[in-house]
Amino acid sequence: MKLHKATAAAAAALVLSLTATACGGDSADDGDSGDGGGKITIGIKFDQPGLGLKTPDGTFAGFDVDVATYVAKELGYDAKDIVWKESPSAERENLISNGDVKFVVASYSITDERKQKVDFAGPYFLAHQDLLVRADDSSITKVEDLNSKKLCSVTGSTSAQNVKEKLAPKADLLENGGYSECLTGLENKAVDALTTDNSILAGYAAQKEHQGKFKLVGLKLSDENYGIGLKKGDTELQSKINAALTKMESDGSWQKAVTANFGPANYENEPAPKITEGS
Ligand code: GLU
Repeated sequence: MKLHKATAAAAAALVLSLTATACGGDSADDGDSGDGGGKITIGIKFDQPGLGLKTPDGTFAGFDVDVATYVAKELGYDAKDIVWKESPSAERENLISNGDVKFVVASYSITDERKQKVDFAGPYFLAHQDLLVRADDSSITKVEDLNSKKLCSVTGSTSAQNVKEKLAPKADLLENGGYSECLTGLENKAVDALTTDNSILAGYAAQKEHQGKFKLVGLKLSDENYGIGLKKGDTELQSKINAALTKMESDGSWQKAVTANFGPANYENEPAPKITEGS
């Protein structure tokens, strides 16, 4: 009896692993019609608590994850059919153009420059650029204070570009591949401030391991309208995603996701923005 059970379990495991292999394609969309049946690959951040985070147990959490999951569902994909692909700031346009992802939901601001290469649906969220400093540092209270400071941001982000072009051109700017690297630098005093969207900074400040270490300065240095990036010219996908975002707001799921993901960080969010892309 015991032996029989073990054999059955082994057989079941084999079937499961075979099924997983058969479905585990790496392309952006194995079911081409977008109405179910296959897998869908979606680009998110892996290191931004509150927005897109790969947790130690290998699951994914955050507002962008919830938005992406909702949109995928409207396109005909269950949560289990989503393959998450890490999409660092500087790689988002390439991942989309190359077809490595079907779309990107990764604190991805809609800009004219990016729209030369990709299209967006949305926006679905409005954030503002701010500064994160060490909790005991009172020397940085306004953007002008940055000109004699070491500042960290991420390559390919609007945050870094804004600093260089207008906010603090004389600041000593270090650009990293991801915000979590900047956070380490801020903690060990390699840099004096980290700048990016307040939505991202609030998530870091609220993390258990960082509590009491950092504070947001509370500046609104820019408007960052988050869009869902997709292949240029795919107007069909763009309007389907816009319809999903509209539904997410009207059925209360948007607010629920905001509360669940930003509530713990005490982040005061802006209301849902009006959809402007594709119309
Ligand atoms: N929202 C800004 C951007 O799209 C900064 C956040 C990020 O790098 O993802 O560049």
